[in-house]
Amino acid sequence: MTQDSQSYDYDLFVIGGGSGGTRASRIAAGFGARVAVAEDMYLGGTCVNVGCIPKKLFVYASHFAEDFEDAAGFGWTVGARQFDWSRLIENKDAEILRLNGIYDRLIRGAGADIFDGRAKILDRHTVEVNGTAYRARYILVAVGGWPQMPEIEGVEHAISSNEVFYLNEFPRRILIVGGGFIAVEFAGVFNGLGAKVTQLYRGPLFLRGFDDDMRAGLAEEMGRKGVDLRFNTVVSRIEKTGSGLRVHLTGGAGDDTGGESVEVDQVLFAIGRRPRTQDLGLESAGVKVDQNGAIPVDEFSRTNVDNIYAVGDVTDRINLTPVAIREGHCFAETVFNNNPIRPNHENVPSAVFSQPAIGTCGLTEAEARERFGEVDIYRSSFRALKHTLSGRGEKSVMKLVVEPKSDRVVGCHILSPEAAEIMQGIAIAIKCGAKKADFDATVGIHPTSAEELVTMRQKIEAPAAAAR
Ligand code: NDP
Repeated sequence: MTQDSQSYDYDLFVIGGGSGGTRASRIAAGFGARVAVAEDMYLGGTCVNVGCIPKKLFVYASHFAEDFEDAAGFGWTVGARQFDWSRLIENKDAEILRLNGIYDRLIRGAGADIFDGRAKILDRHTVEVNGTAYRARYILVAVGGWPQMPEIEGVEHAISSNEVFYLNEFPRRILIVGGGFIAVEFAGVFNGLGAKVTQLYRGPLFLRGFDDDMRAGLAEEMGRKGVDLRFNTVVSRIEKTGSGLRVHLTGGAGDDTGGESVEVDQVLFAIGRRPRTQDLGLESAGVKVDQNGAIPVDEFSRTNVDNIYAVGDVTDRINLTPVAIREGHCFAETVFNNNPIRPNHENVPSAVFSQPAIGTCGLTEAEARERFGEVDIYRSSFRALKHTLSGRGEKSVMKLVVEPKSDRVVGCHILSPEAAEIMQGIAIAIKCGAKKADFDATVGIHPTSAEELVTMRQKIEAPAAAAR
């Protein structure tokens, strides 16, 4: 042990035991570093506790409603159905508890210490947790994000995605505010579980930043499934009444003065998340944050202070669990294995677990037009084979965005119940630089929805040509 390492209690102090922090601590400890992790809430972070995992379990739960209906066309008679919200929550909680335990064992098993408490940075080498100060050669900030709430009258009656997983009572009527991942996913969940769902979005069409065909296609399908979508509408105030919550709206068909309002049992705000950097002591170490509270980092996840790094949602790069994990892993390799690796943020695939789901990788049509001028678009909109007998009108959409000079597929977008599962493989092809000719040369798997991606031969007429 060197003189230098003796003057530190730890080689690495990780603040936050979520996806990024856990991966970084395990890998660093595996390289022989003395590691501590401080977590003030729950191991596994947002993803395991109030994000990806319980959300996906809820999505499965809600989908049974359609599955039972669809079964009739295939000859099944399904008896009386009843949904028990408390049983779902109980089973979900048990699974989350199991995962918390796995995270604990993973971190300790790698040889790292865990502190159950909120850590505060005192200076660039000192972190305090539960009243004790520890000296660390490196500090990794992996504290994630936190849902933001609007500043409106009555907001104390509303919930965020933190509370929605623990509601004692199933909301028969719910208003969901926002047009991002979380809002559309929960609109689908509650609609499937039998609630009357109203979703508000402040702009003309939700999922800004996604491909327009996916946005329009999903809006149509959600409307068909019974979600009351109201665009160009915001909440002006919330009032508690004897029978629920009266939510006054501005925009849309009416406004606050015109008196348009809806009565619901719960209001869920899903209007974005903010990095959780308040009261972390970053200023004591001279770590810069931007105006949204995010920590700017270089391509190796290093902050402006050379022994302090940050990964995951707190850096507000691409706020997805697998990206945080990759960033945490690259950090540990770079710093503790003398093997500099940059996390690659190009062509990161993602899925929105809406109903139907959206899978996406690469550029949207609009982004590709902006970057390359001309692009070739291949699109197929169809009813999946299953629905010939189920009778459901649900449409799937598959779309390829191709850069014509190189013939490279620069974007793929899928609206389909299987979108997430299909997109993972397509993302490998895109990452490898696959050309449209490679897609064409690939034999389809029949009968699937995914085979559309290798059988589309007809380009969609470019908008300029179509307008002529
Ligand atoms: P997003 O950033 O995706 O969306 C926020 C939404 O809220 C946007 O529609 C935005 O509108 C709207 N909004 C923002 N501020 C206001 C306001 N003051 N009043 C009304 N509407 C407002 O956030 P989410 O909360 O949905 O999710 C957070 C992040 O978590 C995502 O970006 C994603 O990275 C991650 N996530 C990933 C999932 C997945 O991979 N399946 C699932 C869930 C979350 P506008 O577009 O006009 O700005």
